[in-house]
Amino acid sequence: MAMLKRYEAVIGLEVHAQLLTETKLFCGCSTKFGAQPNTNICPVCMGLPGTLPTLNKRAVEFAIRMGLATNCRINKRSIFARKNYFYPDLPKGYQISQFEEPICENGFVEIETENGSRKIRLKRIHIEEDAGKSIHDQGGFTKVDLNRSGVPLIEIVSEPDIHSTQEASQYLKNLRQLVTYLGICDGNMEEGSLRCDANISIRKKGETALGTRTEIKNMNSFRNVERALEFEINRQIELLEENRTVVQETLLWDADKSEARPMRGKEESHDYRYFPEPDLMPLEISEDWVTEIQSALPELPNARKQRFIEEYQLPEYDAGVLTSEKSIADYYEQALTSTNNYKALSNWVMSEALKIANERKVDFSQFPISAKNLGKLIALVDKQVISGKIAKEVFEDMLNSDDDPENIVKEKNLVQITDASQIKIIVERVLKDNPTQVEQYLNGKEKVFGFFVGQVMKESRGKANPQIVNEILKEKLANLR
Ligand code: ADP
Ligand code: MG
Ligand code: ZN
Repeated sequence: MAMLKRYEAVIGLEVHAQLLTETKLFCGCSTKFGAQPNTNICPVCMGLPGTLPTLNKRAVEFAIRMGLATNCRINKRSIFARKNYFYPDLPKGYQISQFEEPICENGFVEIETENGSRKIRLKRIHIEEDAGKSIHDQGGFTKVDLNRSGVPLIEIVSEPDIHSTQEASQYLKNLRQLVTYLGICDGNMEEGSLRCDANISIRKKGETALGTRTEIKNMNSFRNVERALEFEINRQIELLEENRTVVQETLLWDADKSEARPMRGKEESHDYRYFPEPDLMPLEISEDWVTEIQSALPELPNARKQRFIEEYQLPEYDAGVLTSEKSIADYYEQALTSTNNYKALSNWVMSEALKIANERKVDFSQFPISAKNLGKLIALVDKQVISGKIAKEVFEDMLNSDDDPENIVKEKNLVQITDASQIKIIVERVLKDNPTQVEQYLNGKEKVFGFFVGQVMKESRGKANPQIVNEILKEKLANLR
């Protein structure tokens, strides 16, 4: 959009990440996704009167991990607060969250942009419980499933430091990468384990005051976040260009119609009547515990990328792709138990395997070929048992069976022919069967050489070692001169 040049988008994201704890935030119910409705519930998460919450220590630990990984201050004392609102899937009539004193504050994450790396400041990270889920259009009814009620979340709130859809997307990808590396969230946007609300305003370039913002909810993929932001930025610019004003409101993204529709007037925090949760003590965190969590932090994406460059002598590009997701990096390193050809393995993972993973929309932890078997396949090429071309064929087979490549090669009789006497026989036959081309070659048409190589490979059903084929062909043709 041409007029965009005069404007700057200002975006702040609120990201909810569902924590990978076994049990809920304030009771012992399972957090498993996909269970029969209302089977993982108890009086506490059903909000029955007289019940009391008991804080899940693991959830607190996970929040601290994220705080440390995003350079936040970990508050030694934080408090839980009631956020009051009515919703059919919120039986208590309030959500236990944190308001005035959250567990983590003032961090940042770095994102790569066209103009180098930029810091996006984090305002806060707080812990809260999820609400239940309303399931609409059930034979004229809306039904309520409370399995999700009380599942632990962290909410990561950025400062309004993001200025384009690309930056927003990059920021989200970084958060997703961090939570999965930290092992605190599975990062699955489609299943709702990672959810994003976007606050958007527009201002003239060079201005510092913030414009009136809207908030968009309900974007359940990276693609939708980008599309929704694009839509809303353009809508606001058009309003300003027509001298109309942006109304502060909450919009709902409709992916099918590609538009954001008003859902409700934007609530202010005082609408929620926050007050300290009387059933929970202030959360006190010792310095020792934070130190302990800090020293047990898993290797983070940047560190892993650097290590891949140094330990496996990979180009920066390769290391970046391989560590972009924890599951890819894990897969890569598991495969190294059966091959030590770092670069060949990197090529296979980045091209062949990544292509299949994208097509089938599977994570590398569920890749149809086990890492060990892919490593073995590469080792077979390195030991010249099979050619690179045959390896592609075996790879296709492995996709369906995840059979040991050694078995496939044996069963299908794909072992490369390196026996010169065997190749000689084929070469002689090819030369005998193609007198015209031999004539042409001898008359100086060198290009025909490639034709002979092709014929020999075809006769050997791709199994002849190409290098030996070349040598023997040259020798035989030279003899004919
Ligand atoms: P609320 O209480 O409505 O949640 P917050 O102050 O916590 O408001 O901010 C929520 C999010 O909105 C933050 O990510 C913040 O960066 C962002 N934000 C606040 N004001 C603006 C604005 N004018 N334009 C864009 N984003 C904004
Ligand atoms: Mg908010
Ligand atoms: Zn429960």
